[in-house]
Amino acid sequence: MKSLFKGAGIVMLAGAFAVSGCSGNGNGANNQAGSQKQETNFNQTGLPIVNEVVSLKMVSPKAALAPEFKEMEIFNRLEKDTNVKVNWENIPDTDYTEKKNLLLASGDLPDAFYAAGFTDYELINYGKDGTIIPLEDLIDQYAPNLKALLDRRPDIKSSITAPDGHIYGLPSWEENNLGTNPFFHVINKAWLDKLGLKVPQTLEEYTEALLAFKTLDPNGNGKQDEIPLSFMHMQWCMDIAGLFGAFGLPDNLEHRVVRDGKVIFTATQPEYKEALNYFHEKWYKQGLIDPESFTQDAAQYLAKGKTTDETLGSYVWWEVEEVVGTERAKDYVLLSPLKGPDGDQTIGRANGGGPGRGSFVITKGNSNPEITMRWIDQQFEPYMAAQIHWGPLDIVYKKDQNGKLVNLPLPERTSAGEFRQKVAPGSGAPGVIAFEDFGKVVDMEPRAQQRAEDLEQYYNPYMEKENYPGIFFEPEELDKINKIEPELIKYVNTQRGRFIVDGGTDKEWDNYLKTLDKMGLEELMEIYQTALDRYNANLKK
Ligand code: CA
Repeated sequence: MKSLFKGAGIVMLAGAFAVSGCSGNGNGANNQAGSQKQETNFNQTGLPIVNEVVSLKMVSPKAALAPEFKEMEIFNRLEKDTNVKVNWENIPDTDYTEKKNLLLASGDLPDAFYAAGFTDYELINYGKDGTIIPLEDLIDQYAPNLKALLDRRPDIKSSITAPDGHIYGLPSWEENNLGTNPFFHVINKAWLDKLGLKVPQTLEEYTEALLAFKTLDPNGNGKQDEIPLSFMHMQWCMDIAGLFGAFGLPDNLEHRVVRDGKVIFTATQPEYKEALNYFHEKWYKQGLIDPESFTQDAAQYLAKGKTTDETLGSYVWWEVEEVVGTERAKDYVLLSPLKGPDGDQTIGRANGGGPGRGSFVITKGNSNPEITMRWIDQQFEPYMAAQIHWGPLDIVYKKDQNGKLVNLPLPERTSAGEFRQKVAPGSGAPGVIAFEDFGKVVDMEPRAQQRAEDLEQYYNPYMEKENYPGIFFEPEELDKINKIEPELIKYVNTQRGRFIVDGGTDKEWDNYLKTLDKMGLEELMEIYQTALDRYNANLKK
């Protein structure tokens, strides 16, 4: 296949005469007439992609509220522009994984899977057995939009490149960078003002504030009902992982950070131990941590911000309003990372967060891979990527005077989330809206915009430079990770809670380390390091 496409490229340069002399597309002599017609029908650049309509069969999941894709305006426009007619087989997203597996097992293959949701296992295994084809040569020749993106962003290229060096699936990503720090740390500024305290900048000032919240009745009801600090232990966006940074090493839900290309397991480091000692001695023992922080669910947690008398002093959540409500939100402010006893001030950078890499695959049953690649490449043009993800021009967006896509008002009695399902294949669809596209090509939604500004103001200046990227693992690596990691993390998390609540960290530390040893910590970290080294080597390719 590779040589054919190289040949086709030369043919194009040599002009129309040479095209008719091309030896066909490799499907055998009996197809020669058809393939010659195809070669002349196919335009290697520009639109339409084909002069006479060519049909492709694609399988795609669809959301509950979404119409069949053949009725979606965005795809009808694409068909008009390209002359490529897609015969969609839409599967309700709840049944998709099962149906996809059946199709793949039966060998009754469509030309492509769209918004395909292929896992790393599937990309590698179906790539290896030839069910889906490698795409890198097709990208080079027929996908100028995607190629430009991958040239500009080696991190995306490295993310979607399988350990065997092939690209089997195309990326899907809305890179709004809002997940870099999920742990927004909030404090009751109305109480600080009342008590004559300034907004804490150091861990010590923060501890003083919590103590004042507990003992000085800042809500003025004569009862000691204030909750100085509440959180949800080891839960996304609600844990105190960020506060470990005051001791020099932020924690995260995986207990895994990267510095200078080296993977570090946080939960065995001296900084982590020091933080646990502090949280126990200074906070838990003095009653400053809500004991339910280790047991409550989100509903209980969120209710604490909305008690009749204001009772919540400080908490962790990615949006102030969601916890305390819009009225009360004005009483609360965000805290930047607190400066620790030795002057450390850092916040973690969340792991992963790269592109989805299995959002579009071409199968071996496809006799028009070059047409298919040109069709899908339209969706890697940033304006089209935005419309594929959120909805089309004149329905969801209009262009402002700078040509940027800005949101039109929603139809009455429709939420943004619902409307999106009806007019766009959505977030799992192929296409990358890169960070630099937001604000230039397309507007962020208002809530997202606020979050981006808060991150910039409070956290980005203190953020760790590196994270553990969304790496494409070998199946054998994934097997080992899945064997070791869940039990190990469960043990670490249980101990973390115990060390904060009961103390005893110094006494139990050696046993704790020995247990982790036995559970395979070293092997686990070696796998993560090897995979990271491979990813970093790919960046330089
Ligand atoms: Ca009170």
